Formats: sequence, C-alpha cells, structure tokens
Amino acid sequence: MPTSTSSRPPDDVGAVSSFAPSPSASPETVYGNAGLPARRKLAIINLLAVLLPLVGLAAAIVLLWGESFNWTYLAIMGGMAVLTAGGVTVGYHRLCTHKSFTTSPLLRYLFTAAGSMAAQGPVIAWCAEHRKHHQHSDAEGDPHSPHITARGSWGQGVRATLQGAVHAHVGWLFGPASQGLDKYAVDLRRDRAIVLANSHFELWVIAGLVIPAILGGLLSMSWMGVLLGFLWGGLVRVLLVHHVTWSVNSVCHLWGTRPFESRDESRNNALVGLLALGEGWHNNHHAFPTSARHGLRWWELDFSYLFIRLLEGLRLARDVRVPSPDRVQSRKRRRGESADAGAPHTEPDAPTCTPEDGPHAVHHL
Ligand SMILES: [Zn+2]
Ligand SMILES: [Zn+2]
Repeated sequence: MPTSTSSRPPDDVGAVSSFAPSPSASPETVYGNAGLPARRKLAIINLLAVLLPLVGLAAAIVLLWGESFNWTYLAIMGGMAVLTAGGVTVGYHRLCTHKSFTTSPLLRYLFTAAGSMAAQGPVIAWCAEHRKHHQHSDAEGDPHSPHITARGSWGQGVRATLQGAVHAHVGWLFGPASQGLDKYAVDLRRDRAIVLANSHFELWVIAGLVIPAILGGLLSMSWMGVLLGFLWGGLVRVLLVHHVTWSVNSVCHLWGTRPFESRDESRNNALVGLLALGEGWHNNHHAFPTSARHGLRWWELDFSYLFIRLLEGLRLARDVRVPSPDRVQSRKRRRGESADAGAPHTEPDAPTCTPEDGPHAVHHL
C-alpha cells in the first residue's frame, strides 16, 4: 500500500502546495528501465489514442449534419461541455482541491454541482485522488501515472507502452480502489457546502442529462429533439469532457514542454490547454499547485483563470492566488538542463498571502 512520506499534516495536502518529495521520487524510480525511445513511443501512442476518436466524432458530426445534428445541438453540446468542464476545472480542481481562491458557500455548492454534471465522481473522492496524485506524482503511490505502477515501471516494448498509456488515461479508474484517501479529504468533509454537493452527486449527474434533453425538446418542439438533446448534450458531451479531463492525466504527463522544475513528468500541452480550459499547462500547475492561474505566460490561454478573474471583478471571488514573478523566475528550468532530467525539487510552494493586500487583490504565492 502506498504511504505518504510528507511531513505535513495529512489534511493539509491539498489546501497548500507544499508537497514534500517522496524518497521514492527519484528519476530512476520514476522512469524505471524505460529509456527515452520508450517514453517517446508511449507519448505517440497516447496522443493517437486521444486524437483519433475525436477525429472520428468530428467526421460523424459532419456526416450527420442536417439529419440528426445541427446548430441547435452543437450549441447545446458546447454549452453543456463548457458548463460541466468549467465545473471540474474551476470548482472541483482549483477551488475545492487546491483552494486557489475562496468564494461563498452558495458558489462553492454551485461550482461543485456543475462539476458533478461531468460524471467524474463525487467531489470529495475526486479531490482526494487528485491530491494524492500531486503528492506522489509519477512515483510510487500515484493513482494514474503513465510511467510507473505499484509494481514499478511499466517497462519497455509496445505492450508495456500501451499498458502505461491506457492506465493513465482511463484504466486506473477500473483498477483497485485507491487506499488511504481519507487523510486527503479532512478539510473538505468540514465544508458544509461541499459535503452537501457531494451527497447530491447522482442528482446532478441526472440533471446534466435531463437539462439538454429539455432544451432539445423546447428548441425543436419535438420528441426527437428531446432524444437528440439527450444524446448530444448529455451522453456525447460526457464522453468529450471525460476524455479531455483524462488527457490531463495521460497526455500532460507524456507530451509537451517542461519550462519549470518539477519532480515528475508533468508537461505543458497547448492543445489540452485549449480544450481543457487552461488545465493543459500542467507543468506550470505541478510547479505551482495552489495557483489559480495555470497559464503563466501571456500566450498560455487559460479560460478558467479568466473566469476566476471575472468572478473577482464582480466581487464573487477573493484571495485569488498566483505566484509572484520572482517565484516564477526562481523555478524556471535552467538553460542547458535536460527536459527529461526530472530533478526532484525540495523547495516548498507554501502560499503566503500578504495581509496588507486588499480583499480583492491577487495574492502572490
Ligand atoms: Zn499531474
Ligand atoms: Zn491539481
């Protein structure tokens, strides 16, 4: 059973970003015997597995256009995708898991409800699993690393490569349940708004299927519209958001750039960054886990952060955390350092919100 090696209190794991590196997180353990070619192969297979079904779906949509798909169902599907993916990125991830900003209990409930409609599990288990990922990233105990299992490296060869990619993307969801998650959820279980939303998970999943069906029916004034709204805005949308979210776990630990020091294989991937509303800037995120802003450079589009800034402008969010320019600079990978070095970092990311900041000022980590 994986054990936490952090010296921090277990209930503090997700609330702050000071994930102490595990002794097992050395590059040797993370990479096992897999050399660079094996990892490249893993990245290519994973990328194809993610992209080809999306190409297939796009082809199906083109072929069905005018018959069982049109602008109405595109709008319903797109709107529901943004609503529920945003619920995951802003609600489940940045608000509940990492506490990168604070907001009212009502908004905590509503953002969590929107995330629940993505059908990725109740919020408390989701957050606990993700906090565990951060603490053990690409090392023993990581629930969904494409590089390592509980038994060590996935190894080399096509079979091992495929196993790692499938495990990180979706396979881990069907494996043995993660152990020791309770310690990652202590603070969440004390939050009444989150506990309430957690208990309403199934209701919100159903609502996420019923709402597009009703919209389809009303906009077309037909029972066929109800069915097509359910299919496109419900089932197909769940499929799309699932794969985009899972791609953060798989693609963003395989394929992309690593501008920052991190003790894992996290990567910045522009395509996932765009599709996952900013979550694809994953190396940035592992370097600064409690930052509300994942796209740290001006061209790293981060819709979730823009939404959080909008909330802040409307005085609906406060204590929005971002790393100071000095901290960003200090964590940059030095020139000439191998992108695959995977050097463990020892500097904690503990956020220090400056008390002199106003109630709506951005807080630097
Ligand atoms: Zn990660
Ligand atoms: Zn995270």
